[in-house]
Amino acid sequence: MRGDPAEILPRVAAQAKVDLVTWSRRYEGATIALDAAIKSTLTEAGHRVSTFNAALLNEPWQVTTKTGDPMKVFSPYWRAARALGEPPAPDPAPARIVPLTLPAGLAGMAISREDLALEPTQPDWAGGLREAWAPGEASAARALTDFLTGPLDGYGEGRNRPDYVSTSRLSPHLRFGEIGPRQIWHATRSAVESGEASASSSDSEKFLSEIGWREFSYHLLFYHPELATRNFNARFDAFPWRRDAAALKAWQRGATGYPIIDAGLRELWTTGWMHNRVRMIVASFLIKHLLIDWREGEAWFWDTLVDADPANNAASWQWVAGSGADAAPYFRIFNPVTQGLKFDPDGLYVRRWVPEIAALPDALIHEPWKADAGTLRRADVALGETYPKPIVDLDAGRERALAALAATRD
Ligand SMILES: Cc1cc2nc3c(=O)[nH]c(=O)nc-3n(C[C@H](O)[C@H](O)[C@H](O)COP(=O)(O)OP(=O)(O)OC[C@H]3O[C@@H](n4cnc5c(N)ncnc54)[C@H](O)[C@@H]3O)c2cc1C
Repeated sequence: MRGDPAEILPRVAAQAKVDLVTWSRRYEGATIALDAAIKSTLTEAGHRVSTFNAALLNEPWQVTTKTGDPMKVFSPYWRAARALGEPPAPDPAPARIVPLTLPAGLAGMAISREDLALEPTQPDWAGGLREAWAPGEASAARALTDFLTGPLDGYGEGRNRPDYVSTSRLSPHLRFGEIGPRQIWHATRSAVESGEASASSSDSEKFLSEIGWREFSYHLLFYHPELATRNFNARFDAFPWRRDAAALKAWQRGATGYPIIDAGLRELWTTGWMHNRVRMIVASFLIKHLLIDWREGEAWFWDTLVDADPANNAASWQWVAGSGADAAPYFRIFNPVTQGLKFDPDGLYVRRWVPEIAALPDALIHEPWKADAGTLRRADVALGETYPKPIVDLDAGRERALAALAATRD
């Protein structure tokens, strides 16, 4: 069926003799308005309507300052959210679901890959996505169990390491409602309390606070529906971003000459996902070393992430840019070499995604331009030919970024 759901749904409900229409609430500007329109037309047509929250631990408006205002800083937000008590446990699945039989004249459309041409064929750029992910509730539940009995132990530190599976990889499942945060919350609590998970309480608290960051992003989006397009901090409206199509393309393609950046962007293109630490490093590089508007990066992530989320993506890009609520200060500029050495110390992550430099020794894997001619030859690397030379000088890029910030301040 095609068309305006606010118009079609009441027709379907009337003809199929539906008594109650119920759905999980949504929290982004356009969907709030759409849901409200559907609700009022259904109610006017005499149907019972009930909406509920399955997407968040708390409603965005439940957590406020003492004076009832929206929150702008994560720590007090999370303290206030925790003070509300344990989030409600998820309801059990319904015992029986009666499928809706569409009345004649309202025939639906078959959802098949072939009919809708949903998947690319020539070229088949989605092969890496299929290999990396198994969509659906069952696989979300499996991912949660695997995580609770595995990487949760040591998560507090491990979550910064892209070179092994250190996080839950639940984000695409959460994004598409295949699992809910309340399920994750209560499963985590019970796995730790029962001893099924060997993690310490500080590891599990850290993990639950990351779910808290997701809540905070939704809180921000609810009160600032333009979070993906407008600087939260208006001072950044005057920021002198550079337009540089070649540099943006090199970044998107993972061809910047900085191995950890290139590894992250290639992982993203191939699997639709990127480790959080690397997301921060590549975002900082685009915004600060290349001085390109954070909205360009947000848009690229939106198009390529399998977990592209209207709240998390927008809030995180603004967080890195320094223009967001409770953001990292703009002058905190990640050095991709230092970050690589610290969080991918053996170069495993880089070698996996940037195989053309894999034979370089560990000490040079994050800075191939420092290798002498003999080392490059032995590793079969020709800089500028088989792997790019750095597209920007790190010190010069950093100075340019700081000067731009100072100019905005003036
Ligand atoms: C520039 C940038 C863009 C991002 N874009 C998105 C996005 O579009 N969608 C998205 O879900 N996350 C986004 N994130 C946040 C984070 O990187 C991912 O949620 C995380 O990497 C998902 O992997 P995971 O499920 O294994 O995380 P885990 O570490 O296992 O965390 C569990 C869950 O907590 C939430 N979470 C974890 N870290 C964060 C965080 N920093 N901010 C908000 N929520 C978090 C996610 O829902 C995640 O699935 C972005 C971060 C950055 C720096």
